[in-house]
Amino acid sequence: MTETPETTREHSAGQPPRQPKPPQPTATNGGFALAESSVEDVFDSSYREKDGPKPPVRLVWRNIVLMILLHSGAVYGAVLIPDHRVHHKYSETDADPHNALRGFFFSHIGWLLVRKHPDVLEKGRKLELSDLRADPVVMFQRRHYKMSVLLICFLVPMLVPWYLWGESLTVGYFLPGLLRYTVTLNSTWLVNSAAHMWGNRPYDQTINPRENRFVAFSAVGEGFHNYHHTFPFDYSTSEYGHKLNLTTAFIDLMFRLGLASDRKKVSQATIRARAQRTGEASNKSG
Ligand SMILES: [Zn+2]
Ligand SMILES: [Zn+2]
Repeated sequence: MTETPETTREHSAGQPPRQPKPPQPTATNGGFALAESSVEDVFDSSYREKDGPKPPVRLVWRNIVLMILLHSGAVYGAVLIPDHRVHHKYSETDADPHNALRGFFFSHIGWLLVRKHPDVLEKGRKLELSDLRADPVVMFQRRHYKMSVLLICFLVPMLVPWYLWGESLTVGYFLPGLLRYTVTLNSTWLVNSAAHMWGNRPYDQTINPRENRFVAFSAVGEGFHNYHHTFPFDYSTSEYGHKLNLTTAFIDLMFRLGLASDRKKVSQATIRARAQRTGEASNKSG
């Protein structure tokens, strides 16, 4: 898929970087909506970290045990969207749930094993989440999350090879079940760790998130992270359509089947203007 600049509206090239943008009404054209964020995922530059010593790290043993058992993703997943919004809004600060300035381990998995920083809780409580509560699909998933994870993440991968080609249930449980889940979880977490540390910043060099092709590959698209944090409302999380981005291909397929609509996309002109204004001069993404 290629970009469709004619169907998108530009952000003003003269606008200063990292300014929160007010929600805008959206209009659609050929399945693409205007590229404005209607949710709280735009960086808030007015937040200041508090002075003084940081609160002590408090381990949450229940989470540590659950993580060891690889069930934490299932338990934790239901509340990941608010965390993601706080991450975008207060990136690389105390109010960022997986603040990458606290190191690779913390941003990768450590943040799931300790009590949240008080600022994460405080800012999280102030988030506007009514759009999620009004979404019947999101609420259905939230209501049936544990059961659907058990079914789709463990039972189906275990039973399919057993039923179709006589694999043992033990192999089905440990390889397509647990091993695949472990690899998938760690690939996803690389977005919060590696993609905030290694790679170039062609769109905004004032922020930490980077373009990381390895993470883009392993997380099926989410590794174009400098782009994603610069334009968080772009459904594709990338300038380059389907390249290393199976997630975009999936959303586009759903659109063709009539199951998705209002794909928000940033125009090429806006991307180039922003890259020239705030990006690293010599870098090319992807
Ligand atoms: Zn994101
Ligand atoms: Zn990020």
